[in-house]
Amino acid sequence: MTDANISGTALPAFDSIRAGDVESTIRGLIERNRGEVAVLESQPGPTFANTVLPLEQLSHRLSRTWSPISHLNGVLNSDELRASYNACLPLLSNYWTDLAQSEPLYRAYSAIAANENDRLDPAQRRVLQRALEDFRLAGVGLPRERKERYKTVVQELAQLGAKFEENVLDAMNAWTKHVADPAMLSGINPVIVEQARARAAEKNAEGWIFALEQPTYVSVLTDADSETLRRDFYEAWSTRASERGPSAGQFDNTAVMQKILALRHEAARLLDFPNYAAYALATRMAPSNQAVFDFLRQLARVARPAAAREFAELESFAGRKLNAWDVAYYAEKLQQKLFSITQEELRPYFPLPRVLDGLFDVAEKLFGVKIVERTGVPMYHADARFFEIRDPGGKVRAGFYLDACARPKKRAGAWMDDCVGRKDFGEITIPVAYLVCNFLPAGAGKPALLTHDDVVTMFHEFGHGLHHMLTRVGYPSIAGINGVSWDAVELPSQFLENFAWRPEVLATMARHFETNAPLPADKQAQLLGSRTFQAGLATMRQLEFALFDFRLHAEYDPAKGARVAEILAEVREEVGVFAVPEWNRFPHNFGHIFAGGYAAGYYSYKWAEVLAADAFAAFEEQGVFDSRVAQRFLDSILSQGGSRKALDAFIEFRGRAPDVNALLKQQGLTQ
Ligand SMILES: [Zn+2]
Repeated sequence: MTDANISGTALPAFDSIRAGDVESTIRGLIERNRGEVAVLESQPGPTFANTVLPLEQLSHRLSRTWSPISHLNGVLNSDELRASYNACLPLLSNYWTDLAQSEPLYRAYSAIAANENDRLDPAQRRVLQRALEDFRLAGVGLPRERKERYKTVVQELAQLGAKFEENVLDAMNAWTKHVADPAMLSGINPVIVEQARARAAEKNAEGWIFALEQPTYVSVLTDADSETLRRDFYEAWSTRASERGPSAGQFDNTAVMQKILALRHEAARLLDFPNYAAYALATRMAPSNQAVFDFLRQLARVARPAAAREFAELESFAGRKLNAWDVAYYAEKLQQKLFSITQEELRPYFPLPRVLDGLFDVAEKLFGVKIVERTGVPMYHADARFFEIRDPGGKVRAGFYLDACARPKKRAGAWMDDCVGRKDFGEITIPVAYLVCNFLPAGAGKPALLTHDDVVTMFHEFGHGLHHMLTRVGYPSIAGINGVSWDAVELPSQFLENFAWRPEVLATMARHFETNAPLPADKQAQLLGSRTFQAGLATMRQLEFALFDFRLHAEYDPAKGARVAEILAEVREEVGVFAVPEWNRFPHNFGHIFAGGYAAGYYSYKWAEVLAADAFAAFEEQGVFDSRVAQRFLDSILSQGGSRKALDAFIEFRGRAPDVNALLKQQGLTQ
């Protein structure tokens, strides 16, 4: 067992976490917390110092103990860990709900707000304000039976979310594609073909066995010349965890989704909100359900003609009517024709180590930090690495784990998560993050080579990471991404994506992994020119997800049930650009809204993209590495966490409210 800390902040002892100990550890800690909460509840003369700070500390301790377990469940799933993880979910859910429903604590916080308000600084006032909001949103004032029911509902929702994820992961692991005919392999990335050959050899099978991992899926859909293969992969992917497709009925999320939507609606009604969407908006920037619908439909009006034009152009280029599994393939070919560039041919120019150097360079230039790898930290897998973020003076300010590449038993997608939050009272901790991606792993003698899409993803997640790690707020409940309105959370991430498109960044970052030659000027120009390629289609796709999600949660009617398929059909009718097969079951694996934090919140991507584009426009006006603009961005937005309202922070930075035109211009969608 190794023991490591970063600036005095203990890092998880990943090499000694045993699935068998997880439940007793968490159970024990929750009991300890409950005991300490009880003391605080009966404390006479509550003050910020004697009540709020200790409670911040208790929540912080539990979060950072649970965080590595939850992380492992996502990136190194096993039956044993899954069982322990699931056993802990109701314990945690009940603990958090009991805390938020505590009337003595609610009274204490109200009294502190009334008595001390003038003496507290703005961050402290915000801690109180957010906490009081959380008490109300957990039904603190409700009659006992309704409070109890709310608690049961929240607990069931936590378990259903985990079940949803399990079904998707199991469906992915259950499916492989055996290919015997080498002609079927035409077009696919050789690294992926080699992986498939090795997998077949392991099983003493002839030919190639492909797994349903994200890089393989993307590569096949984009590059495989065989339409049969593309269709097979599309079917397996888009029917994951449903009653259709190759694992039909085995991991079916149909009932899970219906139950989740019913319980969310019930939770909202218990708190006297008309529906879950309205409940979710209580802590968001968007003022009302109608404002969200208006926003999405306004974008749809602008993007639709462009999207229709783009799809017509694509079909005329292909010379045929396209099926859903042909779209990415022909889009790639068309992009190749228009810009003489493909994602695959860019890979050699984006070796992962070089991309990280380029990314860290951007953070260094903008915010004066230095990022250095540190070895000897306890790890859970040989792929994972650890980095420190240092201040200009060399002081360690934050740290992060990077787990960049795909492997079996790892959840698909890319995300940032909070390992330790910042706390600057009592026992001081600095922030630590997890950055997780699913890039194609290194091949024989080659580093992991990224597409430019992957590079953008890396920048995106690192933007979330900076939000968490560069925070100056010292109260965990509002530090970093905590307490930030969900529809503003994607601001730093989408903001940082812009730098992956800057010539001054590409000049040093994009280098051939063998020759170190820069990306040729014509290729770079073509890459930059391709940024707005099919922006209309991409926008309409995001709007389809966002409208579907928001309508599911805004229009739920207990008498009619969830109407998942019907609402999806209506949304496709409204904003779909091309037909998808009747058996496509994308809701069944839409983890963002059923298992992640995006319920009635998928619109946040577009909402925050407006903020991000408009914020980045301020950099373009002054020069993208202008230190004064960067400092203002850091001071007003990035370091502020949830210590102020997102709109106020934006206005302070930009001098005015956000303007949608910056985004339309960035995407070439202005008429
Ligand atoms: Zn994000």
